[in-house]
Amino acid sequence: MAVSKTRTPIREQEPKIRAKNFDEVCLGYSLEEGKIEANRCLNCKTKPCVQGCPVGIDIPAFIAEIKNGNMDEASNILSRYTSLPAVCGRVCPQENQCEGLCTVGRIKDSQPVAIGKLERLVADWKLANKKTNVTFDKALKNYKGRVAVVGSGPSALTVAGDLVKLGYYVKIFEALHTAGGVLIYGIPEFRLPKEIVKKEIENLLSLGVEIECNAVVGQTVTPEELKENFDACYIAVGAGAPKFQGVPGTSLPGVYSASEFLTRINLMKGYLFPEYDTPIKRAKNVVVVGGGNVAMDAARSALRLGAEHVTVVYRRSAAELPARVEEYHHAVEEGINFAWLTNPVEYIANDEGVLGAVRCIKMELGEPDESGRRRPAPVKGSEFTIDADCVIEAIGQGANKVLLSNFPDLELTKYGYIKTQENSCKTNLPWVFAGGDIVTGAATVILAMGAGKLAAKEIDEFLNNKNKK
Ligand code: FAD
Ligand code: SF4
Repeated sequence: MAVSKTRTPIREQEPKIRAKNFDEVCLGYSLEEGKIEANRCLNCKTKPCVQGCPVGIDIPAFIAEIKNGNMDEASNILSRYTSLPAVCGRVCPQENQCEGLCTVGRIKDSQPVAIGKLERLVADWKLANKKTNVTFDKALKNYKGRVAVVGSGPSALTVAGDLVKLGYYVKIFEALHTAGGVLIYGIPEFRLPKEIVKKEIENLLSLGVEIECNAVVGQTVTPEELKENFDACYIAVGAGAPKFQGVPGTSLPGVYSASEFLTRINLMKGYLFPEYDTPIKRAKNVVVVGGGNVAMDAARSALRLGAEHVTVVYRRSAAELPARVEEYHHAVEEGINFAWLTNPVEYIANDEGVLGAVRCIKMELGEPDESGRRRPAPVKGSEFTIDADCVIEAIGQGANKVLLSNFPDLELTKYGYIKTQENSCKTNLPWVFAGGDIVTGAATVILAMGAGKLAAKEIDEFLNNKNKK
């Protein structure tokens, strides 16, 4: 049977309709559509797709089970490698990872197998049809050791899942009132429904992981308390501290960091005001500064809050845009405008003393900078103004200082992230391991999960060696 060059189309909400609601945009494959897409996989012996997956999922194996209609086995295969398949299937940058290396995508005019969408299909099937994959003896009370995990984002959830399956007592400490990290407070409902994240966390709880929310390590829980009560600790506190460009007018009412704007909407449910008591500005003209996934999420959220014009200003060109291609396309379909090679230079107050306009300057690309991308430079005399009653800066996040400034002796990098040994989660303190964004700086869900997997292995080795002594 000839294999289709193009992917099985995926159902999505219509752009005009979805631009006015927070429901999930992508509706996923049916089992039948999934089988058709799975049949495009060539089951390559060399498995190039697996090399592109930071947690090494046996991709052809789980796709083969979809072909055979054996969803149960497909789900068992996934859960050997990942605790968060429903999340990864939705938000991983597959185009740069597994799908980027897929053999089918290298055939002339062919699109790679939709691996991410198939992962999501299996994960959603599991959430709807199976309670959990308990693969260890839950009655086990003779724990091999006690491990504290700080933070509850994808890195923390992964290390916790792997360690509990190895027979450790694992307790997660989370500063916020809800577990999930960026998956809960950053990525909006229309890309990653919070119910999906909650169900994946419930699976971990059913394996025996304990989670204590409202526990800020460095303040309400001290590092000394962790050392006294646990044999090892994994720090995965992310990089959620907002950054601003610092242009004049940044303190005007109407100027937000993307972290604050998205947290108000996602974690605090500001879009459901007054049912939820979180005020959020419902602006008419919104300018979003930046070009990553965070900028796309902020722009599309502002649109859904009722904005008439949303403009993303990005200092480089479309070719350098770091956001996922899918998110950019969705944003364009929904009517978001893009001002390429543009940067704000001032936020201007209106007569009432609140934000009324953004003064921008055109940019041009020069020589490549340390990231390999061409460095943008302002074009003299090219300033212009955009009307705006709200600006959201999405120019990256930094390390959160609360824990770090209260963890004496923990070595940091010059950028303020936790320093670990090369290709390892080991810090300078033998009982402390670290991974995810707090080590790499803002990165991706799957890289944070990959670090969690590595840390579980290293913590197990460390505690096995300690127990032998
Ligand atoms: P986080 O997810 O940041 O979790 C850290 C947790 O630690 C938080 O819950 C925090 O409250 C908690 N914490 C902090 N300090 C303390 C303390 N002192 N005590 C206790 N708990 C503490 N990646 C993708 O792959 N695809 C995407 O589409 C994508 N979109 C994104 C959209 C947005 C808006 C943002 C902000 C990020 C996005 N990312 C995306 C990046 C991705 O979400 C992160 O790389 C990933 O979540 C990092 O995981 P983590 O486990 O290191 O930390
Ligand atoms: Fe299937 Fe593509 Fe992986 Fe080959 S590279 S096994 S075609 S998903």
